[in-house]
Amino acid sequence: MPDMSISRRGLMRGGIVVSAAAAGATVIGTTTAALAAAPEPSLHSTAQWGARPPSEPLTTVPNRPSYIVVHHTATSNDVANTQAQAYTLARNVQSWHMSQGWGDSGQQFTISRGGYIMEGRHGSISKLRGGTTFIRGIHAGAPANGESIGIENEGLYTGVQPPGALYDSLLNLCAHLCSQYGIAASKIFGHRDFMATQCPGDKLYAMLPQLRADVAEKLGQQPPPPTWPTVKKGASGERVRSIQYLLRQAGDTTAVDGAFGPGTETDVREFQTAKGLTVDGVVGPQTWARLVVVSKQGASGEAVKAIQRQLNNNHGISTTVDGAFGPGTTTSVRTFQTRRSLVVDGVVGPITWQALVG
Ligand SMILES: [Zn+2]
Repeated sequence: MPDMSISRRGLMRGGIVVSAAAAGATVIGTTTAALAAAPEPSLHSTAQWGARPPSEPLTTVPNRPSYIVVHHTATSNDVANTQAQAYTLARNVQSWHMSQGWGDSGQQFTISRGGYIMEGRHGSISKLRGGTTFIRGIHAGAPANGESIGIENEGLYTGVQPPGALYDSLLNLCAHLCSQYGIAASKIFGHRDFMATQCPGDKLYAMLPQLRADVAEKLGQQPPPPTWPTVKKGASGERVRSIQYLLRQAGDTTAVDGAFGPGTETDVREFQTAKGLTVDGVVGPQTWARLVVVSKQGASGEAVKAIQRQLNNNHGISTTVDGAFGPGTTTSVRTFQTRRSLVVDGVVGPITWQALVG
């Protein structure tokens, strides 16, 4: 069973009155398990939406998945919120994926804009109910396909957020997957974390920290603390842009284009060599810790641009990107810190940096 130690905060937020003893040391037993489990949401099977049979045998991975990968279908947002549309979507995705030679829908689950949750790859629901194995998907490349559950979300989320019905279903499905498979709420990622793609769109991707926190709360887990992401060649987006700004801050001439190509990798290696770090061209915790610069009002330069871009482009807090840390940037940082329940001091130290780029 997953580790689902119940926090007092989780219990209180659940609106459940417990004794001090129950909220403290005595947190094992059936009562706790019942509180921590997230129920199975309504799932629509392949039989219900009229799937074609797979064109080849599907592979059962003989262990639990260890993380979840969120996608968007990059299809129209202008669709009905009905079950009929959801079923049409599921059939269309399956047809597209089978035409790619993937044998069936690539992902294990699909969620429509109306909030209907559907089985993608055949057998995904029964494996989930078993809680010990899963059907190997084709959605995020190797090795992710053999380690994760993929969820396709109907729509295009480069410029707008998904509708509430979709988010609620995504939250309920993720919470149940985490509960059933023992996946930590922090282990919910976007497709772009594994390969160079816009998927699941800037807006949905920016909601993943909130999704992790919401799943943690449903499971009675502590909200996951911010951590440094691991970023390497092939990655793209604001996180890469931040790395490029920080390399420039360190004296390099890296181009800031948001694409982690060979040039960025070379500059990362040079930085690692200069700092006496393991030279692998991968930006992980050790490299992040040396790259970031503690910044506050009065600071200026490339690191400040990284902060401002993150706030403005990735976190939806309107901020001028001019490399000068003035009162406006301080206000934005404080807004961000408040939202993330961090110490609100307007100073971008390591924890705030982690929350910005994590
Ligand atoms: Zn994707």
